[in-house]
Amino acid sequence: MISVPEAQQIIRDAAPEPEVESVPYDRFSGRVLAEEVRASFPHPRFDNSAMDGFAVRWRDTRSASRKKSVSLRMKGEISAGTVPAIDVVRGECAQVMTGAPIPPGADAVVRVEDTSGFDSRRDVEFYRPARARENIRFRGEEIEKGETVVPVGRRLGAAETGTLATFGYAEVEAYRKPKVAIFATGDELKSPGEPLRPGEIYDSNLPVMRSLVDRVGAELVVEEEIGDNPAKLKQFFERALSLSDVILSSGGISMGRYDFVRAVLADMGLRERFWGVSQKPGKPLFFGTMEKILVFGLPGNPVSVFICFMEYVWPTFERCMGLEPQRKLEAVLSEPFPRDPVMHRFLFGNFWTDRGIVKCAPTKKLGSHMLTSAVGANAILESGPGKDHFKEGDRIKVSPLPWESMGNQS
Ligand code: AMP
Ligand code: MG
Repeated sequence: MISVPEAQQIIRDAAPEPEVESVPYDRFSGRVLAEEVRASFPHPRFDNSAMDGFAVRWRDTRSASRKKSVSLRMKGEISAGTVPAIDVVRGECAQVMTGAPIPPGADAVVRVEDTSGFDSRRDVEFYRPARARENIRFRGEEIEKGETVVPVGRRLGAAETGTLATFGYAEVEAYRKPKVAIFATGDELKSPGEPLRPGEIYDSNLPVMRSLVDRVGAELVVEEEIGDNPAKLKQFFERALSLSDVILSSGGISMGRYDFVRAVLADMGLRERFWGVSQKPGKPLFFGTMEKILVFGLPGNPVSVFICFMEYVWPTFERCMGLEPQRKLEAVLSEPFPRDPVMHRFLFGNFWTDRGIVKCAPTKKLGSHMLTSAVGANAILESGPGKDHFKEGDRIKVSPLPWESMGNQS
């Protein structure tokens, strides 16, 4: 059996370099940028009005007040999306809608609320003096041409996809999403909706893996429930190997008489990298490669599947997609953490801040079959092997679950 860091290192060394492809703009969401994207023009691209109102020469309105208005001649109208055909000279103003280009000669915009309004035919009354440059959004004030707008390695969310559209990018270079095949093994498994006969259980591993594959942003290409049947396993692997970059199985990888996954893979010529990690849960974890394809044999127990995915598979997907896996942090235990004398131990739990100190507590459900220990958890807590349990006040390593938010004072 190898240690947790050894297993992580072997996987990291075997994982292929991220690949890059062009992605069209309607597919940006969730992708990771493989290039530095720069402003293709200054933003704003032209001086434009921040308000519905009147473009003026600010000096013309200097004496305007509620009591004694200033009157300016209406030269014409400029709406958003048009080019001004007029200019504004002394004593004149022009109607401008929000986003409309500022006509030459004008140096401020007075909002319509401070005037006699848009319906005035010729002369407009101004009830407030304009300040120079007021209500104008100037060319390049947000960003100059050539400045970085979205950096390489950034996952594209709402802010980023919107920003890339602002600068007109119809496609960008992004990392390819790994294609994933998942399957669950076990003659005892049924899917929700099917009746359970005595001794049978519902398959919870496919849903866990499906959800995590989706969350990490990889692409699910095959999923299946398979009994403990070597011929069917072989069939599945053949199909999965032809379609995917990563294969995840659950169950059938331990010491049982019906645990066929490892033998079937060996038979197919897969290169075994390790089998067995000194950890709890997840001791029977298997990892192998077939050319560039990575195969993870996750143990069958539901908590093992979830934790092995988060510790080994999730960071692998992140690296394949050009992301740097997030660092673990340290937190102060508010309750004891049961260590294992010889094995690395992972437990779901929670972390939160309490008067500026990051605290944490593990679940009390210690069994690897107890998936409800993950419900409501926002982190995985862990400790290397040791004779003595950690006590309240000791510090421990914490991996936040990336999609959960940190709690506040308990
Ligand atoms: P195995 O590694 O196949 O011996 O499975 C270990 C334990 O996990 C057994 O109690 C299985 O019934 C259980 N198990 C295996 N696969 C699943 C699954 N897909 N959903 C829920 N429990 C499972
Ligand atoms: Mg089984």
